Amino acid sequence: MWHNSSHSGRILSAVERTIDGVIRFLHRNRSLERTIMTYEHFRFLPGIAILFSTIMGSLLYESTNLRAAEGASSVPPDDGKLRIIVFGAHPDDAEYKAGGVAAKWAKLGHHVKLCSVTNGDIGHWQMAGGPLAQRRAAESAAVAKKLGVTSQVLDIHDGELEPTLENRRLITKIIREWKADVVISHRPWDYHPDHRYVGILVQDAAFMVTVPFFCPDTPHLQKNPVFLYSSDMFQKPYPFKADVVVSVDDVFDLKIEALHSLESQIYEGGASGSEEYVRTIPPASDVPGRKAWLKQRWHERHSREADRFRDALIEYYGEERAKAVTHAEAFELCEYGRKPTAAELRQLFPFFEKPNQP
Ligand SMILES: [Zn+2]
Repeated sequence: MWHNSSHSGRILSAVERTIDGVIRFLHRNRSLERTIMTYEHFRFLPGIAILFSTIMGSLLYESTNLRAAEGASSVPPDDGKLRIIVFGAHPDDAEYKAGGVAAKWAKLGHHVKLCSVTNGDIGHWQMAGGPLAQRRAAESAAVAKKLGVTSQVLDIHDGELEPTLENRRLITKIIREWKADVVISHRPWDYHPDHRYVGILVQDAAFMVTVPFFCPDTPHLQKNPVFLYSSDMFQKPYPFKADVVVSVDDVFDLKIEALHSLESQIYEGGASGSEEYVRTIPPASDVPGRKAWLKQRWHERHSREADRFRDALIEYYGEERAKAVTHAEAFELCEYGRKPTAAELRQLFPFFEKPNQP
């Protein structure tokens, strides 16, 4: 920015010298005096315009660059612990899909970031824009605090995410800055365009994070992370395949406690809510009632996952323990990025060695 300012200073003095020359020429002709007086009033305008555009240009450049660095100040030290980043399209997706496993990693001292690629600013039936974006960022931050992880919400409009080169660079930089070992995202087949494009953008970054001269201002990763998808119910072009299934029984209550902060989405129904919907939920004054309602809802959701992926649970936990698992979160390996061996996957998901009582 300083370099640009001194550059604009040189342009400015050159412009002023030129204008002074023109004015001196005009002064020699008395018949043009009126023109000169008028012109003199505006002689600084070109200089001011150049200075203004230079400053604005520098600020825009800085803000675009800084966008990737949002949350970078909270990058944890290189302490040998695992580093995981979970991308969701909106400030609730990563929390829903991987909140349990995130808490499990965090309990073991590993570093987890939940990153929402859009700001969620149309994700409500009654409010929108900046105030909703701020509300949802605060909700995500509250969830992260309870889970013991880091949260980041990118300032991209909800419903408007596109798989552009600019966004590919942004996602690449965020994965690099976190020095991720594990990256989780939506699959690129999903009902919501933002979900699909998060899947595409993360796929597009899966190789580029290791390429030294792609975004060379952010050091590339020496080791390609393992990329995985969070679970979904979509069948085409192929149903979700559970390559890793984790019991979240031991952190289920914590996940419920954390999700309780997603008020705008859970108790008000987000974009699909309505006054009628809100009337079916225990009121805000009844916190225990709300939490019980939430717990039942998520018990159903997670126990469906456990039943659906029981075979994979048996692979990881053995038959006896797998049958006792009530709540599970599941992930599918992406073909891009590092291809881990079965042993490596168990190092990245270090939850299977010890008995895991539901
Ligand atoms: Zn979403």
